[in-house]
Amino acid sequence: MSTETNASPFRAAVAHYIGTLRVEFGEGSSEFSRCACDSCGSTLAGSRHDANGIDDDTGDIIPLELCEDCLFFHAYGDEPEQWGDE
Ligand SMILES: [Zn+2]
Repeated sequence: MSTETNASPFRAAVAHYIGTLRVEFGEGSSEFSRCACDSCGSTLAGSRHDANGIDDDTGDIIPLELCEDCLFFHAYGDEPEQWGDE
């Protein structure tokens, strides 16, 4: 209620990994993986969803694998209520 200027740890992590890339989702396929999420760096094992990161400046398309939290964040703008707790 007082201050909402500080980015959440989740948003800070996404900004660190994704930067200004625009995220688009492909076929919606997903698979279980223990690899780090390309968007937030989470190493929690779970579903990874195929997506592309698009650099609007260069036109580069970078394949990404996103965790569930990032899927919802990039698709719907929903932030995970709890994130980063080991
Ligand atoms: Zn993630």
